[in-house]
Amino acid sequence: MMIDRYSIALFLVFSYLVGLLDASAGDADPRYRGCVAECEKTGCAGGTCFPHCKFPSDGVANDGPWYMQEPLYLKWKQWDCQSDCRYNCMIDREKEREAVGHGPVKYHGKWPFTRVFGIQEPASVAFSALNLAMHFHGWLSFFILLYYNLPLRQDKKAYYEYASLWHIYGLLAMNSWLWSAVFHSRDVDLTEKLDYSSAVALLGYSLIVSILRSFNVRVEAARVMVAAPFLAFVTTHILYLNFYTFDYGWNMKVCVAIGVAQLLIWAIWVGITCHPSRWKLWVVVVGGGLAMLLEIYDFPPYQGFFDAHAIWHATTIPLTCLWWSFIRDDAKFQTSILLKKAK
Ligand SMILES: [Zn+2]
Repeated sequence: MMIDRYSIALFLVFSYLVGLLDASAGDADPRYRGCVAECEKTGCAGGTCFPHCKFPSDGVANDGPWYMQEPLYLKWKQWDCQSDCRYNCMIDREKEREAVGHGPVKYHGKWPFTRVFGIQEPASVAFSALNLAMHFHGWLSFFILLYYNLPLRQDKKAYYEYASLWHIYGLLAMNSWLWSAVFHSRDVDLTEKLDYSSAVALLGYSLIVSILRSFNVRVEAARVMVAAPFLAFVTTHILYLNFYTFDYGWNMKVCVAIGVAQLLIWAIWVGITCHPSRWKLWVVVVGGGLAMLLEIYDFPPYQGFFDAHAIWHATTIPLTCLWWSFIRDDAKFQTSILLKKAK
């Protein structure tokens, strides 16, 4: 009997500690917790009330159309209510904190951002969209250069041997920025997984491209042999994140390792190559390295909008522009070498 009580007490203390460790400083605050609990019960936080927080008491919906009675709709309504309650309680708490001179704290792992038209992190969404546009522009101008401006082989294929690698790169980059914009608009389980998975896929693929391009791997069989272990690892990692555990710490380590590896590969290559456009690569490598620091040095949003992550997304916009410009120069340079050889 004694042991039983002891183990229950120990379990309670342990789960309380785990709960505290799991929470951010903001949502561990009992006043914030009380506000959210109250709001989910009454549908009101501070002076604001949410009509969609009124749930039928017996769990069966009212006389609305059929889709209003679906459990999925109820679930969505409940989730939307929780999201609105958390946001309004957070804003109220932050106002109180500011009044007594305290700085912002994180809630559920995120800084308190000001929403615009229901978009959670407007600055990150805008910068993600601009990155997407930059990649589209870069890829499109690369495509036009290859197939309309530069001479083609007799079989209508481009001389540039890395063309298909960059096409796939462009697609993966646009896909990744699309999901980044969606995720920063609404942070739910699905959008988070899509954003992280696409980012890992892009990162892993760009590591493969950096190896193939810097070591001048032209033979198809050799390319497959180099790419296979990386593809296997990245695929396993994505499956692990989505279907086993979503381990932020481990994912961060994997992403930093892949990122640093490709920056090093490009840095060494740019140091020894005689490529006419190597200065562009220099700027991208140094800029990319500095931008990475923003992810490590995490500061709260300025004016409720621009935090370290948003600024990081902003810095990659000009770097992307320069990056595609380097790829176009590389296509021109390689084509001219191949044409000289052919003559
Ligand atoms: Zn992001």
